[in-house]
Amino acid sequence: MRKKIIAGNWKMNLTGAAATDLIEAIKREVADVDKVEVVVCPPFTELKAAAAACAGSNVMLGAQNVHWESAGAFTGEISAAMLQAAGVKYVIIGHSERRQYFGETDETVNKRLKAALAAGLIPIVCVGETLEERDAGRMEDVVVRQTKTGLADIGAELSKVVIAYEPVWAIGTGRTATPAQAQEVHALIRRTLAEMSDGDVANGIQIQYGGSMKPDNAKELLSQPDIDGGLIGGAALKAESFAAIVKAGV
Ligand code: PEP
Repeated sequence: MRKKIIAGNWKMNLTGAAATDLIEAIKREVADVDKVEVVVCPPFTELKAAAAACAGSNVMLGAQNVHWESAGAFTGEISAAMLQAAGVKYVIIGHSERRQYFGETDETVNKRLKAALAAGLIPIVCVGETLEERDAGRMEDVVVRQTKTGLADIGAELSKVVIAYEPVWAIGTGRTATPAQAQEVHALIRRTLAEMSDGDVANGIQIQYGGSMKPDNAKELLSQPDIDGGLIGGAALKAESFAAIVKAGV
């Protein structure tokens, strides 16, 4: 039985009291929830304060990226050890905005993934096709390639990874994949994971859906057999909508 995981990707939003107030409000809203893992992923500059706000609660802390080297001359980058020292448990890797704007590739995703696992962080690896790729009939090829290459060569550690299927055309657009469309791709990802390991490992891996998930569509998406949670952008910036999505997963 896979526990559902709802993670809020705050992207480049919120500072200071706005960030900690949001965490405090989420904590109040989800205090009684134990069937769903709740995660917030603020920007790097807010991680320490967020860790203090999350301490002792059922709200876990995540980051939005990690570099593959442990230290050195990599201006602007953050290592897995730094995230760990800041109190981080999860880290998003290979978000489509990183792929689209910052040159992220399946190969760099794989390097970041290995660094995160080595430091004991739980990676949330994002995969998903663009509209152009879907319209050209290439969705399956793209998602399978991203899954196989991004998650290559990690052996038994595969069981520790969370995957987020995020069709790029649904991110921040208000256009959500239908539950049937999302389920089809989640099942494809799980079959791919089974080929990479075995059925038992693949059946234990949490696969989140991301892309304009909102309180009014969360329940139907989360009730699909292979959808094990959500990676939430816009709706994660308000405690009420984020908590409503969490509760839809209970
Ligand atoms: C995301 O960026 O991971 C995301 C799913 O965003 P939104 O919910 O705003 O579509």
